[in-house]
Amino acid sequence: MNTPAPTGCRDTPVLRERGQREVFCGLTGIIWLHRKMQDAFFLVVGSRTCAHLLQSAAGVMIFAEPRFGTAILEEKDLAGMADANTELDREVARLLARRPDIRQLFLVGSCPSEVIKLDLSRAAERLTAEHGPNVRVLNYSGSGIETTFTEGEDACLAALVPALPQTQARELLLVGALPDVVEDQALNLLEQIGIAPVRCLPARRAEDMPAIGPNTVYALTQPFLGETHAALTRRGAKRITAPFPFGAEGTTLWLKAVAAEFGIAPEKVDEVVAAPRARAEKAIAAAAATLRGKRIFFMPDSQLELPLARFLTRECGMEAVEISTPYLHADLHGPELDLIAKGPVISEGQDVDLQLDRVHATRPDLTVCGLGLANPLEAEGLATKWAIELVFTPVHFYEQAGDLASLFARPLRRRELLARQHPARMEAAE
Ligand code: SF4
Repeated sequence: MNTPAPTGCRDTPVLRERGQREVFCGLTGIIWLHRKMQDAFFLVVGSRTCAHLLQSAAGVMIFAEPRFGTAILEEKDLAGMADANTELDREVARLLARRPDIRQLFLVGSCPSEVIKLDLSRAAERLTAEHGPNVRVLNYSGSGIETTFTEGEDACLAALVPALPQTQARELLLVGALPDVVEDQALNLLEQIGIAPVRCLPARRAEDMPAIGPNTVYALTQPFLGETHAALTRRGAKRITAPFPFGAEGTTLWLKAVAAEFGIAPEKVDEVVAAPRARAEKAIAAAAATLRGKRIFFMPDSQLELPLARFLTRECGMEAVEISTPYLHADLHGPELDLIAKGPVISEGQDVDLQLDRVHATRPDLTVCGLGLANPLEAEGLATKWAIELVFTPVHFYEQAGDLASLFARPLRRRELLARQHPARMEAAE
């Protein structure tokens, strides 16, 4: 593992582009949020397009009692000929009568609900008064007009914060929707290090949601939680500054920053994490054999780009050509920029045609991008990785570090294999 790069990218001028973007909207976050929050329901107030997006992204849900749905805005709603609020109230009453297990209901705004300026925050207040205290109704926007796909989670967690109770307790809060098994690994490591009690946002059930106050300290597990960070700060909580827990190095630095906040020496962390860290380094080394020396280009999709570029360049030997993020949050992403050696273009936002020109000019070995761009790039002979897989796959902390590296190694191995089996076809594509 490398020591921190003496010349990181913190001062690198950022290329800012504000053109056409190619990303999924914030509704996508419902797919992982509804699995995490086991007594919540996500009711999208949107169009048939929104319903189709959710159905196709979460096709597996036909096997279970779904915890999300769409209240369809019909043409008469969009034309202002019907009172959409009355219909929404009726839809919610019907849903809650049928599903007494629901304790938290999120009204999720969409492009159509924003276009007709449906006030979902007032609707949430009205419906909480009607259906509380058993059910708390909250709202946030997943509209593609304003959000990229990970911002849906940020908006959801930020909507939860003002409703959390007050506390004076000195508690650690982990912020970010991790798969339960990954969250349990993190809680286990923190307990061995000597940090307790630890609470999680979001909690798995409404009754376990944390309280917040001036003695709360929190560590983000995801780099796309800027609004949640702002909401927690407004409640007086303090963030622990650290790189994100991706890879063996990132996880160790994250744990050490949390430990330092609680007056625990880094040596104690080293002692506790020795075995899982060694396992992670071994697993990463296996995938790094494919990744070493390969050039990678990140398009802006998930806001995971900077931590992942740090992991891939420092622990897997890759070279970053361009690292592009939808939003560069200097405060949250600064520790990552410090660790990335100078060299790559750092860019924020997207003008997709200009960015594709840079991909064509630099011809990276691997391009991380959305589904819509991946197929055309593959047809041009460029290997790609779908950004959305990075949020659907468990990738945090030590036990997942090898899988994280493998996600990037797999498309490169596939291309090598194809090149060996069909050399003429691959040459034609290039
Ligand atoms: S919220 Fe907007 S971008 Fe997302 S599915 Fe609905 S219409 Fe499409």
